[in-house]
Amino acid sequence: MEDFSFETQAIRTQSERTQHREHSTPLYLTSSFVFEDAEEMRASFAEEKERNLYSRFTNPNTTEFVDKIVAMEGAEAGYAFATGMSAIFSTFAALLQAGDHVLSCRSVFGSTHSMFTKYFPKWNISTTYFKVDEVDLVESLIQENTKILYIETPTNPAVDILDLEALGVLAKKHGLIFIVDNCFATPYLQKPIHFGADLVIHSATKLIDGQGRVLGGITVGNKELMREIYLFARNTGPAMSPFNAWVLSKSLETLAVRVERHCENAMKVAEFLEQQQNIQLVKYPFLKSHPQYEVAKKQMKMGGNIVAFELKGGITAGRTFLNKIQMCSLSANLGDTRTIVTHPASTTHGKLSEEDRLEVGITDGLVRVSVGLETLTDIIHDLKQALA
Ligand SMILES: *Cc1c(COP(=O)(O)O)cnc(C)c1O
Repeated sequence: MEDFSFETQAIRTQSERTQHREHSTPLYLTSSFVFEDAEEMRASFAEEKERNLYSRFTNPNTTEFVDKIVAMEGAEAGYAFATGMSAIFSTFAALLQAGDHVLSCRSVFGSTHSMFTKYFPKWNISTTYFKVDEVDLVESLIQENTKILYIETPTNPAVDILDLEALGVLAKKHGLIFIVDNCFATPYLQKPIHFGADLVIHSATKLIDGQGRVLGGITVGNKELMREIYLFARNTGPAMSPFNAWVLSKSLETLAVRVERHCENAMKVAEFLEQQQNIQLVKYPFLKSHPQYEVAKKQMKMGGNIVAFELKGGITAGRTFLNKIQMCSLSANLGDTRTIVTHPASTTHGKLSEEDRLEVGITDGLVRVSVGLETLTDIIHDLKQALA
């Protein structure tokens, strides 16, 4: 499959057909697999022979999903998890030991932040944060025991951009494992491995599924690191279900066309919002006004589907705007066909102090729009009447 390009790999990477010669991959709802004889069973358990044994390890549906993402990200190997968070936790848990140190951007997904600050200290794993505009400081924060450099780009919910190439070079120079949560971009828009990432993680729950149906996660990248992660996962049990893998593998067949339209709509929504009087600031990676516009252009094919904007009038204005929304959904998810609007300061990040919110770029009037695939004029009409 290596000679094929992106869309073809997403469609034509497929598990071997059964005797029925089905065109589309069937669902393999089986927890285990059978052996011809004692010798085949021995060889399989000894890993002399690559084949399915038990669905906590591998299953034809999860393997197909993994093979696709591996090809689409330009990785060497991968493993599929039940959720994005189980992918993130298992990846760190497999690679870290007590006494290790993690260097991470502060603007990470909320549960990732909780993992670093609430749980890792229990196992004597420490984390140092840098802010999105402190990439120049990162080298000075590296310690003797730093093992992993971790980022998300674009970030949630403020859609800031971090320079993958600069951080990739730094990680290589200091022998750090560079891990990127590529959830907001998808491999269609951005391939972190190309810029030096060792591992790429996705919450497949978002744009990869794209229709808000199933949860899923995946880690792909360097073969030796993936081997450690696979063995950890195989023993500790965070595997993706074959059903979810089947759904997600189907979703990947349309990822390119879906994400392209998401981005076209989002760009138009961002341009519309920039014209509105009661909006102070619009953040979208491919708007010239974005502080990291040049970096975004360098590492992303299009700007993604998330637009953030700052309403004049703070918390009250944010809540009022949400209450006036008619068609778009008020929901915590993102990357769905349905446009979703959230006001982080009063919802997802409502428990944080104002100071902590500002560290991740969440001002009181910040609204996040996950632009969907409805007719563009209908999306804009809804936003417009809610702003009025
Ligand atoms: C949603 C999300 C996650 C967590 O994924 P789940 O599938 O919900 O566990 C991690 N990182 C980012 C950037 C996300 O948006």
